[in-house]
Amino acid sequence: MATRIVVCGAAGRMGQAIVRAAGAADGAVRLVGGVVRGGTAPAGYERTTGWEDAGELIRQADVLLDVSSPDATRALLERHADALRGRALIVGTTGLDGDTETALDALAAHAAVLVAANFSVGVNLLLALVEQAAAVLDAERFDVEIVEAHHRAKVDAPSGTALALARMVATARDTRLEAVRRDGRSGATGARPAGEIGIHALRGGDVAGEHRVSFLGPGERIEIAHAAGDRRIFAEGALRAAAWLSGRAAGRYTMRQVLGLESGRT
Ligand code: NAD
Repeated sequence: MATRIVVCGAAGRMGQAIVRAAGAADGAVRLVGGVVRGGTAPAGYERTTGWEDAGELIRQADVLLDVSSPDATRALLERHADALRGRALIVGTTGLDGDTETALDALAAHAAVLVAANFSVGVNLLLALVEQAAAVLDAERFDVEIVEAHHRAKVDAPSGTALALARMVATARDTRLEAVRRDGRSGATGARPAGEIGIHALRGGDVAGEHRVSFLGPGERIEIAHAAGDRRIFAEGALRAAAWLSGRAAGRYTMRQVLGLESGRT
């Protein structure tokens, strides 16, 4: 039976990429609804509604797929927690704050919840490779710098994927990202402390998403990178996650579990 999906942020770039991916999915999914912020209803959804009235539509879904904005995700959890209970929620929105993360943890006692800054197979493989590299290349000798690039309309920086990569390195090195994170450099910075994780964001044009993790050591450098050529890879990954998550028991799940890459840390 087709997985019934309601998309929050249906009129956005990802919402529209999901329509195209669903069209190519041979009936495996049904886009039973789209939640939008006013304006024209986007094509490809059986019904659309505003955020205030989304509860009834959410109750018709097996999976709610949120690709909107941090404000909208927070409002969704505040207003529609009851409707979300007993179904599956996938959040692809990036830049979530601590309160939203706490609300997601609370919801996971009653619903299957998956939060993924990146739905692509390649980026999740990149995360696994970075975890492996960070476990071998010690913090005293190998400096980690992460550079990401995205289109000019992206509203958060650094990207959620860059943060997930940085967190992966920090965890593999038995430390907290907050203790070693360094966003950009300018002026009289002094020498680079060992163990620091540098993160740098480029913005411009229509770049779908690029991430490079460099391990810079004495006499050698290891670089692991991913470039997204098309938003389609995120939409296809999101639909794969929806089919996997539908009907699962309440709890937190990861994209790496969906892809069979391991039990999942991100
Ligand atoms: P977008 O701006 O094109 O679309 C967002 C949609 O959400 C818009 O239609 C907008 O009207 C709606 N929206 C935003 N704020 C709202 C609010 N407060 N109330 C109601 N509606 C609101 O953005 P996009 O490129 O589609 O990306 C959406 C989100 O998905 C971003 O956070 C982005 O970083 C993330 N993203 C995730 C992945 C992934 O693989 N997980 C891939 C690409 C983008």
